[in-house]
Amino acid sequence: MDLRTFIEETRAVEPDEYLEVLEPLDVELQIAKRMRELDGGPIVLFKRPKGYDIPVVSNIFSKRRRFMNILKVSSMVEAYRKLLTAISRPRRGRIRSDAPFMEVHEDSTRSLPILKHYKRDGGAYMTTSIVIARDYELDVLNASVHRLQVLDRKRLVIRIVPRHLYRMYKKACDMERDLEVAIVIGCHPLNMLTASSSPPYGIFELDVANTISNNRLEVCELDNGLVVPREAEIVIVGRIKKDEFHEEGPFVDITGTYDIVRRQPVLEVERVLRRENPLYQALLPAGEEHKLLMGFYREALIWDYVRRAVPEVKAVRLSRGGCGWLHCFISIKKEYEGDAKNAILAAFAAHPSLKLVVVVDEDINIEDTEEVEWAIATRFQPSEDLVILEGVRGSSLDPSADQEALITSKLGIDATIPLYKPSDRFRRIYE
Ligand code: MN
Repeated sequence: MDLRTFIEETRAVEPDEYLEVLEPLDVELQIAKRMRELDGGPIVLFKRPKGYDIPVVSNIFSKRRRFMNILKVSSMVEAYRKLLTAISRPRRGRIRSDAPFMEVHEDSTRSLPILKHYKRDGGAYMTTSIVIARDYELDVLNASVHRLQVLDRKRLVIRIVPRHLYRMYKKACDMERDLEVAIVIGCHPLNMLTASSSPPYGIFELDVANTISNNRLEVCELDNGLVVPREAEIVIVGRIKKDEFHEEGPFVDITGTYDIVRRQPVLEVERVLRRENPLYQALLPAGEEHKLLMGFYREALIWDYVRRAVPEVKAVRLSRGGCGWLHCFISIKKEYEGDAKNAILAAFAAHPSLKLVVVVDEDINIEDTEEVEWAIATRFQPSEDLVILEGVRGSSLDPSADQEALITSKLGIDATIPLYKPSDRFRRIYE
């Protein structure tokens, strides 16, 4: 179970899903430009980043189908179910003391082909870095994905959104300690998928990955007690400084716009452990992969919350136009008047960053934005079917909101057929 095996397996079954770029490309902008051209496409291996011996791999999570392959299921609903079930039964992988990533020890990030993605970016950024840390009080582990901006060979600045890692960091600061971390780059996609999810605090995301894999994940315990996947390509050992901060950004987030620049903690690199010939994994900020990875767990949660509120949920999609994060389309089998409005409220509860929810009937294909708009045009009455919420907490990513206080307003659209009118009048006629 590792990244290279996953790539080989994908390639064996679907040769078109793998592409090698042999041309030497610069880590500054050139590779990212090619990634943009191949966005949403096959897994890409950039074999020759200029000036580096380590190849860059991207587009591992570029399509929904890939998520289903990784989870070994055949529909998105099964995928949600599998992830959520595993979260309720996390199990530690088998602990081994040796690992391929212990082959090479370095004292800085110099050998890594870290990319700069857009012209006005603050610098080069690691974008698939799984940061593993421990809560010093409760002795629980956490794995989450964070962007890391390169300051120099030994120092990075880490963006920590106020979630689990933040809580661990705050506790460490209160104890006047730095927070020791292990950063994993390149490993079996199940680890990345669970680390991009946010199970309740105290549940270690890699244990969830192990459960999904039927206990096939092997892990290593590092000297500092942190647990990493044994099959990792690269592991960076370091500490998030309690007393050193730096401006982070500008960086393009999933909205495709520049996130605001903030003062964030500095991460000091102690050692870089890696395979002899590792793969360095990257993703394009604001690309399909970025959106799908961030959105997948949220979609699963929305599906789970909404199915508790209405009789039957058909499908859930964080839409592409909504940055894979801010807008959600939901199709339901409506039984009672009011079901759609309950679905709207449930979706907002499941994903606090959500700004717009559109609920449609089961005959609407929510993967087709035009069809969703058609449902709004023919089934929605603003005076009756609109829900507006004001002064609610929302995303830090939406430039139209108050990005510091995270206060926004939200919109729900019930575009389902009203039950008191003959439904025949609303059917699209094809022949
Ligand atoms: Mn967590």
